[in-house]
Amino acid sequence: MSILYIVPTPIGNLQDITFRALSVLKKVDYIVAEDTRRVRVLLEFYSIKASLYSFQQYTEHKKTPVLVDKLKSGFSLALVADAGTPLISDPGYFLVKTCKALNIKVIPLPGPCAAITALCGSGLPTDRFCFEGFLPRKHSVRINRLQDLLEEPRTLIFYDVKHRIIETLQDMISVFGTERHVVLARELTKVWESIYGAPIGTLLSWIQRDTSKIRGEIVLIVSGNCLNSNVLSPKISYIMEILIKELPLKKVAILMKIMYGTKRNVIYKQYLNKKFNKVKK
Ligand code: SAM
Repeated sequence: MSILYIVPTPIGNLQDITFRALSVLKKVDYIVAEDTRRVRVLLEFYSIKASLYSFQQYTEHKKTPVLVDKLKSGFSLALVADAGTPLISDPGYFLVKTCKALNIKVIPLPGPCAAITALCGSGLPTDRFCFEGFLPRKHSVRINRLQDLLEEPRTLIFYDVKHRIIETLQDMISVFGTERHVVLARELTKVWESIYGAPIGTLLSWIQRDTSKIRGEIVLIVSGNCLNSNVLSPKISYIMEILIKELPLKKVAILMKIMYGTKRNVIYKQYLNKKFNKVKK
C-alpha cells in the first residue's frame, strides 16, 4: 500500500508495545530494522513472521533509494529501531525526509522512548524540556555544547553510555557547577531499573564510590538554569567579576538584571562574598 510506518518498540520490557504496533508489524511487507537479530527476539516473542531488511545509520543514505523503490512499487514498510522510537538518536530521518519530498505516505505510531520515560520519572519540570541526545564525543566540542546550554531554562535530556558517564558529569560540573540537580535514569523498564537524583557533585561521588550504579543504559535529566535562583552559575559569576573591575556595583547589578535576569540582592550577596574572601586572604 506504499506506506512507511514508524513503529516504536520496547526499551527493555517486551510487554511495552501497543496492539496497533503489533498489528502493523504483522501486516507490512518488510520490517526495516537497525539490527535484524535484535528485532527477531521481539518478533519471536509475539510469533510474528516477517521479511527483514537491515538499515543502519551509516548505510541510511545508500539504502534509502532502495526502500523508496519498494514503497513506489506498492510495498508497505515498518521502520523499527533496536529499542524505542526510530529517528530519536536512531536512523530514519533521511528516509522520512525523502518520503515526504516524494509524497510517499508516512504514518508514525506513538510508543516507548527512553527520553520521555526518564523525564516522566525524574521529578524535574516536564512542561518545557529540550532533548539533546548524545553529547559530542570529543572533549572540547562537548564542553562547547554544554556552554551553549548553560543558560537554558528548560529541563535538559541527554542520552549517554556507561563508559563515558563519569567524564560527562565531570564536564557538566566544570560548566554548570556542582549544584545543578541531575537525575540518572538507568535500565528503564528492566529488572535493575533505578532512578536517582542529586546535585551533580553528589551524584558523581555516589557513582565513584560504586561504579555498578552506571551499568546498563542511561538517560541523564538535568535541571534547567533557573535565572532567578539565588546561586550564580560559574559563567555568570565570571562575567560579573569582569564587569566589577570596570564598573560601579550599581551599574553591574543593572546590567546583570538586563542580560541574565539576575536579582539585585543575588549580585550584592556575591559581591560581598568575594570581598570577604579577599579580606581573608
Ligand atoms: N530511539 C531510542 C529511544 O527512543 O529512546 C534511543 C536510542 S539511542 C541509540 C540509545 C540510548 O537510549 C542509550 O544509550 C540510552 O541513553 C537510552 N536508552 C535506551 N533504552 C534505555 C533504557 N531501557 N534505560 C535507560 N536508557 C535507555
